[in-house]
Amino acid sequence: MPNILVLGGTTEASALAAVLAARGDAAVLSYAGRVASPKVQQIPVRIGGFGGAAGLAGYLRSHAITHLVDATHPFAAQMSANAIAAADDAGVPLIALTRPAWTPIAGDRWTCVRDIGAAVAALAGPPRRVMLALGRMHVDAFAAQPQHTYLLRFVDAPVKAPELPQYSLVVDRGPFDVAGDQHLLQAHDIEIVVCKNAGGVGAVAKVAAARALGLPMIMIDRPALPARREVHAVADVVRWLDHEADRGV
Ligand code: NAP
Repeated sequence: MPNILVLGGTTEASALAAVLAARGDAAVLSYAGRVASPKVQQIPVRIGGFGGAAGLAGYLRSHAITHLVDATHPFAAQMSANAIAAADDAGVPLIALTRPAWTPIAGDRWTCVRDIGAAVAALAGPPRRVMLALGRMHVDAFAAQPQHTYLLRFVDAPVKAPELPQYSLVVDRGPFDVAGDQHLLQAHDIEIVVCKNAGGVGAVAKVAAARALGLPMIMIDRPALPARREVHAVADVVRWLDHEADRGV
């Protein structure tokens, strides 16, 4: 009988959890615990770190996990690297459920950079009105470019105020649509948008809104990860669970 651990925190993980619940699979969804009230799930949930790769390997063993699905965000590189190491250590088959990266289309004004530090550096220059579509963990780095006025959008109100001299904060967990994001960008006279290349449909509204308004974007590339089996659809995870994982595919 399969006993599945899903590493979550994404729309894709929640979609997979709903399918596993409907199938009656034994499965647990794991959250890091970053969000105050995470989305309610149809399978049991556990919250908090495992204590590195060794901690996760210990969890896989002690909970007799038979299949590990890494459905974390493409920028959750530490968790994904830990999942690869732990699955190998514990001898549990692993699959990653990810979203294809966004790609620019004709007319897009993207500057692609390798990480947050490079995004900060790319904002050197005269004062502008900048939307940082990044999440609260990364915004303080932009204090190194204090000349700009920033627009922030967080899932929860921050406990500690962002360390930026000039900013507006919107607390909203979405879902967001193109018309709403276009309105937000216009209401704040935004001149440039900074975001991670998260990919998928859940977070694409701001990209489409910036595109519609002809705004430039600083697009942060995904971190590199060791090789692993990776699919983009819940149905492919289900096929792997039913037919492929036990054959080592
Ligand atoms: P990270 O930097 O890769 O992970 C840091 C540590 O957080 C991990 O080593 C692990 O702690 C713990 N952790 C991360 N994801 C976990 C999970 N699903 N369950 C249990 N522990 C987890 O991760 P992150 O970028 O902070 O992302 C944290 C969570 O937010 C993930 O669930 C991710 O899917 C979600 N998320 C991230 C982003 C983003 O832009 N990074 C965006 C949207 C959602 P231990 O080492 O102690 O096990």
